[in-house]
Amino acid sequence: MTERGNGGTGDGISSYVTQRRSDGRDLRYPEAPEPLRVPVYDNHAHMEILDGEEPLSLDEQLDRAAAVGVAGVINAGGDIESSRWCAEAAAAHPRVLAAVAIHPNDAPLYEEAGKLDEAIAVIDELAAQPRVRAIGETGLDFFRTDDAGKPAQFRSFEAHIALAKKHDLAMQIHDRDAHRDVLDTLSRVGAPERTVFHCYSGDDAMARECADAGYYLSFAGNITFKNAQNLRDSLHVTPLDRILIETDAPFLTPTPYRGRPNASYLIPVTLRFMAAELSMDVDALSARLAANTVAVYGSFTD
Ligand SMILES: [Zn+2]
Ligand SMILES: [Zn+2]
Repeated sequence: MTERGNGGTGDGISSYVTQRRSDGRDLRYPEAPEPLRVPVYDNHAHMEILDGEEPLSLDEQLDRAAAVGVAGVINAGGDIESSRWCAEAAAAHPRVLAAVAIHPNDAPLYEEAGKLDEAIAVIDELAAQPRVRAIGETGLDFFRTDDAGKPAQFRSFEAHIALAKKHDLAMQIHDRDAHRDVLDTLSRVGAPERTVFHCYSGDDAMARECADAGYYLSFAGNITFKNAQNLRDSLHVTPLDRILIETDAPFLTPTPYRGRPNASYLIPVTLRFMAAELSMDVDALSARLAANTVAVYGSFTD
């Protein structure tokens, strides 16, 4: 769970927001990149987590994104409060769709409090709303959760897989240091029809395995990091109709802005990097990514 903050985003929806820790980072938002000619979407962000020396409101985040050709954002929840916020934001804004879930690192905390089932029941309810288009982020995280928390993570993950199937929604997987267990769980219980690895973090062998299973790989700004050759190798072996792009904002700001606040308007930085990596025309990659987003989450205008 992130630290709880106060204050609304000034846009008529729930005042629930959190504040990212500053940790001595450079808190200036990077300058806006050159606009994309073909509009795309940010497939995974946390617009309710404020960051920066002058945090951007929800409307400001969406306006800045639209100004550079990022026409919409899928905002992902991680606990009851943020998932409710996501659903409200999506209901109120034509440029927002929601993903709702209990995050794998939060599942053990709810379980300890005897409240995991209750929490999953709330997600089940939210999942019925028309602009909630995904269950996420769910999955496994063995980086931040120790062995004692694993049973709750597995139980929560399987319950979320069942919800995605029940509501015929896409699923956004958070997989950190748990590649084999995530893949095995999906094949054991059966993956939802539209399964996305958000902030894909595996290697090219795993990317091939995902492609064979029909999963989508969503690449974030860390694909631009010097030490992330595994991600660039993965991009090269992923079929074009299985590639998505996201910010995971306010985290994972692409090079050369690493550590500074991230927001959906920085998608073009990562997209141009991916196009160069693939030796592909930026407009053609944009069109492909936008079509993939709609294939997974449906239209923003419905
Ligand atoms: Zn995640
Ligand atoms: Zn995330």
